[in-house]
Amino acid sequence: MKRMIRIPLLLLAFAMFVAACGDDDDTSSDDGTGGETPSGETLKVGTKYDQPLFGVNTPDGVVGFDAEIARFIADELGMEVAFQEAVSANRETFLENGTVDMVVATYTINDERKEQVDFAGPYYIAGQDIMVEAGNPKGITGIDDLDSADIKTCTVEGSTSLANLNSMAPDAAVTTFDTYSKCADAMGQGRVDAVTTDNVILLGLADESDGAYELVENPFTDEPYGIGVAKGSELRCQINEILQAAYDDGTWAQIYEDTVGAVASVTPDPPAIDNEGC
Ligand code: GLU
Repeated sequence: MKRMIRIPLLLLAFAMFVAACGDDDDTSSDDGTGGETPSGETLKVGTKYDQPLFGVNTPDGVVGFDAEIARFIADELGMEVAFQEAVSANRETFLENGTVDMVVATYTINDERKEQVDFAGPYYIAGQDIMVEAGNPKGITGIDDLDSADIKTCTVEGSTSLANLNSMAPDAAVTTFDTYSKCADAMGQGRVDAVTTDNVILLGLADESDGAYELVENPFTDEPYGIGVAKGSELRCQINEILQAAYDDGTWAQIYEDTVGAVASVTPDPPAIDNEGC
């Protein structure tokens, strides 16, 4: 008889404990199971498919820092992520016409883009640099060396990399493609002498080249990466909260180490989030 009473009491105590744990005003719908999607809604995400370390489409899905950040945000929102390839030039359009709900794609926050879209974050700060053939046969040491008809430089249309090149090296001989991997291929074929964009993108391409390419390592801009959403979207402030929590509990650092950390030995501190208007 005593036993029969004791067990329900224990169960009751346990139930009260569980209820108390679940009562701490948790605004996210993450149930801690990782990957379950309570609402089943889809979050359409535009990301790069050809940028090692940040976003590469593989038979096992999209891998890299941007892809993992996007998955984490979708999880926290209780949604299922559906990736779609975005290139530099179509990111604003994709957000404006609803092709995607969110762009996580090495996407620099700047005032010009803010006229068309909103940004959560920043969640990383890159800097524009230059990649050359191993051994640096043309002796390129910085942006000034690209300001010449004798050096063929490749970058991508619709990027800040191209805008910066045009303003800082107006006499550069510029070739453009829609993706950076095409620039890397062009350098492999001897059609260009240099590729310029964010250092972390170049780091991934150089790493993939098996020693064929190297970085000049003389960055000349700040590129704060934001998460693009449609103008006026409530998602911006929600994502900022999710990012802040990921900074505070070490999730962001873990994602960085698991992706970019394969090549970069130092994990930076995450940048301060711009919460203006939230
Ligand atoms: N972060 C720069 C930009 O948003 C260059 C990288 C890219 O094109 O994705 O334009």
